[in-house]
Order: sequence, then C-alpha cells, then structure tokens
Amino acid sequence: MEKVCRGLYIGRFQPYHRGHSQVLQVIAEKVDEIIIGIGSAQQSHQTNNPFTAGERVLMVSQAVEKLNVKTYIIPIEDIHRNSLWVSHVKSLTPPFQVVYSNNPLVMELFCEAGIKVGGTPLFNREKYSGKRIRELMQTDKKWKDLVPKSVARVIDEIDGVDRLKHIAKTDDS
Ligand code: ATP
Ligand code: MG
Repeated sequence: MEKVCRGLYIGRFQPYHRGHSQVLQVIAEKVDEIIIGIGSAQQSHQTNNPFTAGERVLMVSQAVEKLNVKTYIIPIEDIHRNSLWVSHVKSLTPPFQVVYSNNPLVMELFCEAGIKVGGTPLFNREKYSGKRIRELMQTDKKWKDLVPKSVARVIDEIDGVDRLKHIAKTDDS
C-alpha cells in the first residue's frame, strides 16, 4: 500500500480569508491529505483574535468543502514555549511529512525540527490579510469580498463584526 502524503497548514484564521483559500488550492495539488491547524485556539474576544476556535472550525470547514482532498481541522492551543511548540503540534495532529507556511517563525521552528517546509506564493498580501480585514470590520468598511461567502455567512451568524467593535472599546474616560 502506498504511503499517504499529508501536509500541515497552520494559521490563526482570524478570520479565514481568500488568501488562505488560494494557499490551500496550491497545497491540494501537492499532497494527498491536508491537516489544517487552528493556532492560538484558546484565544477569542480580543481585537487581534476575535473568534473562538469553534467559530474558526466552522469557517474553515465550510470553506474547504470544495477542495478535492481530505482535510482534518485541529485546534491547537498556544504553549508559550517556542522551543517545544513543534512537538506540541505533532502530539495533536495526524502524522504529516511536510508543513506549508509563509510565517517566518513557524517556518524556522519546523525547519529546526528537521521537518520539510514548503512556502507558497503570497496571494495579494496587501489585500488578503487577517489584520487588514479586522481593521475594515472595525471601521465599517467593505470586507465581505475578501473572505469566501460561506465565511461571511458564519461571521454574520455570530454577529462577529459587532463583537469586534464592542471589544475594541475601553472603559477609560
Ligand atoms: P493576521 O494578519 O491576523 O496574522 P494572516 O492573514 O497572516 O492574519 P494567518 O492565519 O496568520 O492569516 O495565516 C496563516 C498562514 O497563511 C500563514 O502562513 C500566513 O503567512 C499565510 N497567509 C496569510 N495570508 C496569505 C496570503 N494572502 N497569501 C499567502 N499566504 C498567506
Ligand atoms: Mg499572520
């Protein structure tokens, strides 16, 4: 029996956007199965991490339905110890042979652990960026075109934009 080649793609997906979709399409051409790690899973209700792990699972699972490869979506909490992080990730995920990331720290940590790291092109990074999308949401600007329709529906369902605006406020005078 031939060995299944699994690739890991890890991100915070706050929120999942069309840049992530394009990366996954590239990865789907290269591996048999994709593991999607939802990083900083314990974080939510913060301006740079507004959505819960469960909400992000919903976003990602709906968006990957169109992919022709099997996917596993695994929430991964932070351990605040970079030198042990790769072992932590491996302890939670199905076995994988290659990691795809454009995040320099993630690439460095897997590389140091002797795991093959594949970069993918950056797809319109000025436009497709979680940080930018969160800023657009907070300032009532157009953001829906930057995420798959199914993701926009999830964000509407959970009143995500209102949440982001509420948590951006302070009780300072
Ligand atoms: P944030 O601004 O909140 O960090 P992000 O857009 O970088 O959001 P992440 O969830 O941090 O999204 O990214 C997951 C992975 O996807 C990282 O490896 C990141 O470099 C990569 N990525 C994000 N946007 C793009 C893009 N437009 N093209 C290619 N890769 C991307
Ligand atoms: Mg990022």
